[in-house]
Amino acid sequence: MNLFEKWLLPPTCVLTGDPAENFDLSPLLIEALKRPNEVCPVCCELSLKVGGEKILCGACMTTPPAFCRTQVGFYFEGALSQLVYGLKYHQKTAYARLLAEMTVESFDAEGVQALVPVPLHPLRRRDRGYNQAELIAKELGRLLDIPVLTKGVLRIKDTPSQTYLNAKQRHQNLGRAFEVRCEAFDSFSHIALVDDVITTGATMQVLARCLQRKTNIKLIEAWAIAKTK
Ligand SMILES: [Zn+2]
Repeated sequence: MNLFEKWLLPPTCVLTGDPAENFDLSPLLIEALKRPNEVCPVCCELSLKVGGEKILCGACMTTPPAFCRTQVGFYFEGALSQLVYGLKYHQKTAYARLLAEMTVESFDAEGVQALVPVPLHPLRRRDRGYNQAELIAKELGRLLDIPVLTKGVLRIKDTPSQTYLNAKQRHQNLGRAFEVRCEAFDSFSHIALVDDVITTGATMQVLARCLQRKTNIKLIEAWAIAKTK
């Protein structure tokens, strides 16, 4: 928030109601959040650093994913998970701005020409009234001055909830889930897919693979506010 907004509306924690500092979240809650550090730069799973350099995990070395890099703000726990649940299931759409402000510094946006939110199936979007990934992407796009493409990919299969599926089942569940409007990507060679949370990375992987097959995009990144441990 800018100085005028701060003066007009002093930051107040949306979860506790306590006075806050830079964001509408108590500094104590922010301090308790953990960021993925010792992780593989491609998939963001744990991977040891060697001499200060992040190194690829075994899985990415043997079968590289369709995306070239994963960037996330925090681990999905504590206040972060409360904010994401609020945004996703309780119509707290204002949390999208807070989540974007809290995480924007975690993203290295060098070279990224467009942000592409992971689409929701139209039926789910209608039930919820919005796509939380799109709200986040728009806030990040505003802060980073990067255009957001919302009409380039459609979700054409209403996939059952992924919650209780393992990685292989998630991939099967997502088969032919997306349709790409190739012309929307004609002028881009480096994009970032944006989602609220990355769990196994299956959704990003399937979407990235689909874009890789159908467009000339060279570099696809996976961005999310948080990642499950
Ligand atoms: Zn990896």
